[in-house]
Amino acid sequence: MTATLIDGRAIATSIRKDIKQRVRDLQVQPGLAVVLVGNDPASNLYVKYKIKACEEVGLHSVVKKLDENISEGELLQIIQELNQDPKIHGMIVQLPLPKHINKNLVIDAILPYKDADGFSPVNLGSMFTNDNRLVPATPKGIITLIKSTNQDLASKHAVILGRSPHVGKAVATLLLQENCTVTICHSKTAHLEQITKQADILVAAVGKPKMITKEMVKPGAIVIDVGINKVYDQIVGDVDFEEVKDVAGFITPVPGGVGPMTITALLENTLICLALQKERA
Ligand code: NAP
Repeated sequence: MTATLIDGRAIATSIRKDIKQRVRDLQVQPGLAVVLVGNDPASNLYVKYKIKACEEVGLHSVVKKLDENISEGELLQIIQELNQDPKIHGMIVQLPLPKHINKNLVIDAILPYKDADGFSPVNLGSMFTNDNRLVPATPKGIITLIKSTNQDLASKHAVILGRSPHVGKAVATLLLQENCTVTICHSKTAHLEQITKQADILVAAVGKPKMITKEMVKPGAIVIDVGINKVYDQIVGDVDFEEVKDVAGFITPVPGGVGPMTITALLENTLICLALQKERA
């Protein structure tokens, strides 16, 4: 292996230690609510990790586990109750939601200063105007991982695979703020390999197991693998780690890369939510 491993688990552990200390020093215990609709096994697992992380750093946490057939109106009512709950400072709605529920309507119902995932149009809009008060958790974690390499990011060519609002587009926005030159690729991009080969920073957020092969990577590049794909009983990323590690300069593993950083950024965002509510009091 020639690449330096970007150890997301170790970086997350160190940040969580700091969060734990900050929580201890607060007069109010920050509270996070997680709304979980239905019984998707992956969602159940992610929620379990999030609650465990809350316990680890001393956050109050609540899971609202709701039936898959809940109506949109009933779900919106629960969001309103959490908006009014003084013990809850941040909330997230675990995605995906069942098809009969309008995801955008639900996310828009979360008060922007309780939006711990940073998914609401208000917080995404703020980020586009360089106001990063509540940035989506996964992109926030990704930027921390990239910065952990201590490379000068200005003028680097960053190529992002994936254009979802909460991952690909948000990472692109944050890397623009770091003065990278950013290219976003998607399922209709032609000659993908020619583009990825130019990347000093390559972020794969596609959801296709091991689609990034060594031929697609510029020697020495920083490679961030966001993908979580279940292949038989194994979790693999969007990057073929075994071969790309011999070409890249820095690389994140899956698991143990972006995943733990996403949860850590969610904890940080809950503290930011609490601070925003204090400002408003
Ligand atoms: P998404 O909404 O499904 O978006 C996937 C993106 O990939 C789309 O923009 C799609 O393009 C693009 N794409 C699909 N096939 C492609 C191809 N062959 N070449 C180039 N681009 C292609 O997914 P997401 O929510 O952004 O998540 C992406 C991956 O990250 C998933 O595996 C997800 O599980 C994982 N994830 C991990 C974490 C974590 O904490 N580690 C957090 C969030 C997500 P179109 O727009 O043209 O369809």
